[in-house]
Amino acid sequence: MTNFRQTLVAMGADVRATLGEVSIGGASDSELMACIGELEAVGRLLDGARLAYAAEFDRRAALDGDLVVAQGGRSAVDSVAKLASISESAAKRRIVLGHALASSVSFSGETIPPRFESVADAVRDGRLGIEAAGLIVTQLSKVSPRVDDAVLRAAEASLVELATGDGTAPPLAVDLVADQVALFVARIDPDGVRPREERARQNRALTFGRVTADGLTTIRGALMPVTAAQLRRLCDAHIRAAGPQFLDPDGLSEAEREQLDREAAADRADTRSRAQKRHDVLGSILDAAARVADAPHLAGAPPAVIITVAAAVLEEGRGAGFLDGTRTPVSEETVEHLADTGGVQPVTLTPGGAILSLGSVQRCFTPMQRRAIIARDGGCIIPGCPIPAGWSEVHHVIPHRDGGATHVDNGVLLCWWHHRGIDSGPWRLQMQRGVPHVRGPGHYEWTVATKRRASITELRPPSRSEHRRTG
Ligand SMILES: [Zn+2]
Repeated sequence: MTNFRQTLVAMGADVRATLGEVSIGGASDSELMACIGELEAVGRLLDGARLAYAAEFDRRAALDGDLVVAQGGRSAVDSVAKLASISESAAKRRIVLGHALASSVSFSGETIPPRFESVADAVRDGRLGIEAAGLIVTQLSKVSPRVDDAVLRAAEASLVELATGDGTAPPLAVDLVADQVALFVARIDPDGVRPREERARQNRALTFGRVTADGLTTIRGALMPVTAAQLRRLCDAHIRAAGPQFLDPDGLSEAEREQLDREAAADRADTRSRAQKRHDVLGSILDAAARVADAPHLAGAPPAVIITVAAAVLEEGRGAGFLDGTRTPVSEETVEHLADTGGVQPVTLTPGGAILSLGSVQRCFTPMQRRAIIARDGGCIIPGCPIPAGWSEVHHVIPHRDGGATHVDNGVLLCWWHHRGIDSGPWRLQMQRGVPHVRGPGHYEWTVATKRRASITELRPPSRSEHRRTG
């Protein structure tokens, strides 16, 4: 029988002698790379042997306490640490993993295979490193009490195959092995995912923080995975991907080229950051939600917030209103935007502060008007803006103050952001024979702005399906 100790001594001497002669710096690139691989292969074999010997020492120490005493150690772990000149934690890791990969002998003298036989085989052959082996053994051990043994064995075999590679696929990097192990564990142990989800449910939160000097409210929170995914999807789906479109200019007609130029100019005019755009999408979503929740009560207006404003402020277009429930004043401009979509209800007070008279809601587009405008405009009418019709607000093209009527021929769809930026931004609006037109970046002449595919002559009352979708 070959003596492993003699083999190790001879191999050590060989390696020492060879290392003394070779020059690493003089090695060719291919030689260098080949050596890195070969070193690892030999290292894996030795690592496997280290585990096996540490575990065997621990097994014998449990049967014979003198073994530990002879080493002057306090425990088997301590003794292995001393013998190998390693830390106790490293010694413990070797012993634990070594036991998981060691076969044993039953009282009747039969050999009992290792608990993790596939991993043990791969480590012994030097195909699997102990880092990946440790990952697989540790994670599968955690779920083993709850998982059927055959399922566990199958998972172990598949993970070893992924980690070591086979004829068709190369070995996985250890980081990827960790991902795969987590996937397998989640798959075979549904009970393991549930407690984590329960913890997440407990810790979900959305908090309104302090208000900055500018009146911005900070929000903080932790969203459940599905909620986060929904919000992310809604936000990102409605933010146009920036960047050039690589279309072959020679393959385009003159008209298509001009159209592209116009779109590019409109895109450049939108200087919002991605974070700002996400905020604006959220504004549009909240608008739409408010409209749905309260449509039966307030004629399709989003009444989630109430602003109190003096009649003179609205008439003069100067001053401020106050958001219900806050001390934050809002500009007359903001009041106008909310009035456009939410309407105005006049309340006359006596000098003493009692209610003298209460008017009905004015200047608010009815759901029927809104549906007609949606059928015509098909979404925020600003070129390049992807916000859909359901999330858009109806804007008075000629302001109410200047005599603009609350009529479909004076209402157009604008998203949350374009509604608020329309007075200061680069876009101008005009109704021509009941059709919205825009002028702005890349659109130097009045351009039909509706996003319906149908041409104007084909305009018709909204079909039944459109009613259902939007109403
Ligand atoms: Zn828009």
